[in-house]
Amino acid sequence: MKCSLCNSSLNHKVSPDFYKCGKCNAYIKELSTFLDSAKEQERYLTHNNDVYDPRYRKFTSPISQRILSNFQPHHLGLDFGCGTGPVIAKVLQEKNYQILLYDPFFQPINENLEKKYDYIACCEVAEHFHDPQEEFLRLNQLLKLDGKLYIMTQMFENQDQNFSDWYYIQDPTHVVIYTFKSFEFIAENFGFQVEFEGTRLIVLKKIRDFSKQLKIC
Ligand SMILES: [Zn+2]
Repeated sequence: MKCSLCNSSLNHKVSPDFYKCGKCNAYIKELSTFLDSAKEQERYLTHNNDVYDPRYRKFTSPISQRILSNFQPHHLGLDFGCGTGPVIAKVLQEKNYQILLYDPFFQPINENLEKKYDYIACCEVAEHFHDPQEEFLRLNQLLKLDGKLYIMTQMFENQDQNFSDWYYIQDPTHVVIYTFKSFEFIAENFGFQVEFEGTRLIVLKKIRDFSKQLKIC
């Protein structure tokens, strides 16, 4: 099997379902364990994503707060992978921000993938990417130059934690787990500059257009 992020061969298994990539340090789930699309959608429907729930608003606030401090209502944003409850879009729209939605299951609005954005929120989404290369290429193309991509995903960086027992991989739809090094790889190979806040918030600033001709590995 090949790493879905960097194309390297995977041969180091760290749990019954996951490999660790020696090049980009991502943890990649065995393809044969992926849920089919109907089961995947069913699983997302069980997430309780009420846009008025204060706990859910607080959980996603590292992204919404950063957008509110760095952008103005006239900037155009996208809530990418917004799921059943687009809470970040809701919080920003209440402050008159213009932010559009896209989600392959719940908001499949293809025309929103044809615009260029000042910022993109991608909250608890990147760990679901079946094809991270394709998605980071797309996210680069959706952003204007100097635009920002705010990603929230739990990186695996705690060396005292046994990966197989880690709560975050118990969700069967989490198929790629990133590390600092994985995002440094993404920044370097997909045209971004990276900045971290703890192990859960990643800010990728677009510094150049990513071209498909650019060879990874
Ligand atoms: Zn890799």
